[in-house]
Amino acid sequence: MRQTKGDRTSSEADASAKSARTSAATRRMSDPFVREFLLTFWKIHILHHAEEERGVYGMWMIEELSHHGYRLSPGTLYPILTRMAQRGWIKAVESTSSRSASSRDARVYRITPAGADVLERLRRALAELGGEVGHRPAKPKPSKAGHSPKR
Ligand SMILES: [Zn+2]
Repeated sequence: MRQTKGDRTSSEADASAKSARTSAATRRMSDPFVREFLLTFWKIHILHHAEEERGVYGMWMIEELSHHGYRLSPGTLYPILTRMAQRGWIKAVESTSSRSASSRDARVYRITPAGADVLERLRRALAELGGEVGHRPAKPKPSKAGHSPKR
């Protein structure tokens, strides 16, 4: 992915060198699939878990998302949490848990009333979307129009 064209300005070269040093996760954020779709999934997960009693904190959320097959670095997750807090969907509270290893993790996020509204809208949208897209038969049979798939 490295470009070595001679016609680049020095600032472009600086930016290029900088991006070469960024983490794999940050590079993945530039993947259109990640940016356009997965990012949204992660935010939905965060809202969902922020609604739970214990709330969410960074390392726990990274662990949780890894169970779903998503590998995020702290450098990817923390800005998402910060942005969601700026939107007013989640709110940082001080952790009383001794599990939190770093000072960053002292920040536990809980859902706000505005976030709960967003989550409710998302749940309706997800149910609607899943109803149509989520149950696509493994082998579509075009000749069997009108035949309902199982479930
Ligand atoms: Zn989850």
